[in-house]
Amino acid sequence: MFDKILIANRGEIAMRVIRACKELGIPTVAVHSTADADAMHVRFADESVCIGPPAAKDSYLNIPAILSACEITGADAVHPGYGFLSENARFAEILAEHGVQFIGPKAEHIRLMGDKIEAKRTAQKLGIPVVPGSDGGVTSDVEASKVADSIGYPVLIKAAAGGGGRGMKVVHSAAELSVALATARAEAKAAFGDDAVYLEKYLEKPRHIEIQVLGDGKGKAIHLGERDCSLQRRHQKVLEESPSPALNTQARDLIGETVAKAMREIGYLGVGTVEFLYEDGKFYFIEMNTRIQVEHPVTEMITDIDLIFEQIRAAAGNDFTLKQSDIKFDGHAIECRINAENPVSFRPSPGKILHYHAPGGLGVRIDSAVYQGYTIPPYYDSLVGKLIVHGKTRTEALMRLKRALDEVVLDGIETTLPLFRALVREKDIIDGNYHIHWLEQFLARGGMES
Ligand code: ADP
Repeated sequence: MFDKILIANRGEIAMRVIRACKELGIPTVAVHSTADADAMHVRFADESVCIGPPAAKDSYLNIPAILSACEITGADAVHPGYGFLSENARFAEILAEHGVQFIGPKAEHIRLMGDKIEAKRTAQKLGIPVVPGSDGGVTSDVEASKVADSIGYPVLIKAAAGGGGRGMKVVHSAAELSVALATARAEAKAAFGDDAVYLEKYLEKPRHIEIQVLGDGKGKAIHLGERDCSLQRRHQKVLEESPSPALNTQARDLIGETVAKAMREIGYLGVGTVEFLYEDGKFYFIEMNTRIQVEHPVTEMITDIDLIFEQIRAAAGNDFTLKQSDIKFDGHAIECRINAENPVSFRPSPGKILHYHAPGGLGVRIDSAVYQGYTIPPYYDSLVGKLIVHGKTRTEALMRLKRALDEVVLDGIETTLPLFRALVREKDIIDGNYHIHWLEQFLARGGMES
């Protein structure tokens, strides 16, 4: 096992990793920007190092500063959390060159899945169903229109280097294609430094269902079921649940095993998520995330497996002790991402938390890094915390979520709590009857203003 783990992140995920390390008996090092000197992760880690000014590019993305922090503190492994450097293959390699273990997959797999065109090609080769679309990137109008005609409109132009829901363009007819292609390429170049784009059939009412995987890097891999993340705004997840109201045991086992088999074939190491759209009983691969995800707690709640713990064990080269038959799905879990944002306009609302009361009771979990008197800085993403509930059934989980949401007090800033309080009272949500466009349609018809 590792002697000391440095956490190259902040906020709730840094706290989450610190908690796992404490239970494993591994000392931790927090790194922080000058804006985060008062942050919870800094207080709870065994040691802390300031790595730069507020801007992420000068601190949480500053590789030389993070390396120096490893050297100063003697950390022999780095947990990257999600976002920041978590999917940076070069970072993993640089750490290895300095004798520090990156807690994540092999650099080759991060690189492979980071290019969405290559990822899709690989998935297809491994027997995973993909969304119909171009075979690789498209550069010319002629090529694009040929693909679009064959798959049928509407089509979606996606950036090979895209992420975080950015770099996508829906095209409804042949007349719009040429301009949309040029714009998408220019935007991709500006946002990601890479103008490669590809085409995909735009699915009208799919659900977003993703499979959690865990591998030992030596050919053993299992799946831990799915998460339904169909409630999204601007392609960003808002609420996640597991199991998906749309899947039965047979469908879950089938897609889970397809994915686990693919991971065994490539020798995948650690945790990862294979994301699909699901429509009319069929799965379509969209991408793979080679890191821990924000919504991992819903899987932990129904499997009773600590994913960070397993991720650390795998990175340390420990023998894989879990078998697929050990994985049991117990009850139902739902997560709400509470953001410091206005619940109607979604404008960020950083600032000081004047009063804070966390909900409690059976089956309620809060993953957060805020406290009363804490000032949320304006420099980073607006996630304040995650409220996760677990119940024996989906109905029980929803009732528990409703009462837990009513218990939270978070004053001084605006949050998306009112959105969740409204959602748990919506018939479609109660019935589990929603798809990836449901939330935007709800907001567009003034669901939050009434
Ligand atoms: P990112 O890496 O930016 O998160 P993804 O490929 O994971 O991009 O897609 C994010 C979201 O965009 C999906 O969850 C879904 O809501 C939407 N999306 C992606 N591909 C399609 C598609 N072919 N048809 C319809 N919606 C899509």
